[in-house]
Amino acid sequence: MSGSLHKLHRRGRWQNLQLSLCMTAFLVLTACGPAPAGPAPAILEEFPVDPADTPAASLPTNTAAPTPEPTPVPLERPLYTLTVMLDYPAKTVSVDQTTIYPNHNGEPLTNLVLAVVPNLWAGCFNLTALSIDGAPVGNYSLDGQRLEAPLSQPLAPGSMLTISIQYTLTLPFIDQVDPNQERPRIFGYTNRQINLTNWYPFVVPHRPGHGWVLHDPWYYGEHLVYQAADYDLTLTTNPGVVVAASGLAEAAGASTRYTLTAGRMFAISASPEFQTLSTTVRDVTVTSYFFPFYESGGQVVLDTSARAVELYSQRYGPYPHKTLAAVMGDFNDGMEYSAFYFQSRDFYNLYDGSPISYLVFVSAHETAHQWWFETVANDQAEYPWLDESLCTYSERIFYETYYPDQIPNWWYIRIDQYNPQGWVDIQVYEGGGFRPYTNAVYFRGAYFIEEVRLRIGDAAFFAFLQDYRSQLAGKISTPQDFFRILNQHTAADYSDLLAAYFSTPPTP
Ligand SMILES: [Zn+2]
Repeated sequence: MSGSLHKLHRRGRWQNLQLSLCMTAFLVLTACGPAPAGPAPAILEEFPVDPADTPAASLPTNTAAPTPEPTPVPLERPLYTLTVMLDYPAKTVSVDQTTIYPNHNGEPLTNLVLAVVPNLWAGCFNLTALSIDGAPVGNYSLDGQRLEAPLSQPLAPGSMLTISIQYTLTLPFIDQVDPNQERPRIFGYTNRQINLTNWYPFVVPHRPGHGWVLHDPWYYGEHLVYQAADYDLTLTTNPGVVVAASGLAEAAGASTRYTLTAGRMFAISASPEFQTLSTTVRDVTVTSYFFPFYESGGQVVLDTSARAVELYSQRYGPYPHKTLAAVMGDFNDGMEYSAFYFQSRDFYNLYDGSPISYLVFVSAHETAHQWWFETVANDQAEYPWLDESLCTYSERIFYETYYPDQIPNWWYIRIDQYNPQGWVDIQVYEGGGFRPYTNAVYFRGAYFIEEVRLRIGDAAFFAFLQDYRSQLAGKISTPQDFFRILNQHTAADYSDLLAAYFSTPPTP
């Protein structure tokens, strides 16, 4: 995700589990975690009595036969419960994390693999306790971003386990000046912001017959793949710190509790300088977070996001959450997260009042990721075109709706001036640099989607997108899914487009 990650890979580093008094306290804590949902208890059977022998008033009650143990019904998704202490001045975070993980993979699991992305930075991630179903785990490995823990007994399909982790983060400074960074890093702190992105250990997706999916990081683009999960996070931080987060917030004493259902991850940005503007569209509260003196840009981001939520809800299907946080990032990039996106401070600085500006089209783009990435996820390393082509093309749909006279300008300023070349279906590692990668995946991708739309017509095109969203909601899409569903909505021959845009034309 950033230009410096490739220099920070540290392989072969094992961290020793530190058993301490904290462990005892933590095991007690995890025993009080949320109980998995289960069926209603069996109705107690009355002890058989002859009412002719015994007055009815003295009939024994509740002298039941032994009740069979209820079979736990596995959760639909993993549940992450996090208790987070963010010490803003110290730039540190301490976390108690409990994850209930249901095995819906259709095969037994003999180990678990979690992504621990903060461990890519020296001295950032400090694990203090790890247990599975209450038993401390000593024989785990932590190698770069990969934490692997064997299971003492296989986890059968349809069963659940509970992973308890306690750790601290010492946040890295977001380096603004490294000339080798093609894209700035987002995770860490600047002089006016703390960003927690991909900051907690999470169980990576498991592909039956293939195994755990955790790709190597790359210095631009995204490499992580996310299973949808539920989040229940309680955050405590210093007075005066304004927090933008992925979930729906409610006060919890001096803390704030956030909940997020079927999210891909949970992102947080905090700053004592944040100002906010909010609006409601449908049942979604959109909030724009920005630094002082950027209120006009903050208003544009708010308006664009709200209009995009309305438009894409009509064209693609319902927005997946109750909130959307559009957050000014103190770095030069935009980036999507669950119910949350970053918009670069540089785009606010460049904004000149024209609708053809990065502030507007990147806001429309990042909002579209709540459908393509958040609702329908994809393998961002292997098939980045699946979400990026659709989100770039969503900008075109935004402009044709709200600024139809600006469509030629959008094509030129956003895409054509770069004379994009390259295959749409490259992996994130194959682009040869941020610009050629973007040209191929985002911009040629948008042209491919445009040509498909022109070939099959608007009615079939939007019916396809709605059906694609509906069939893959909460899942991880593949190109085979994309073209299978497309073919359910058109009989048109588009093989020439596949040959023109794809290095390996898919065979739907
Ligand atoms: Zn994007």
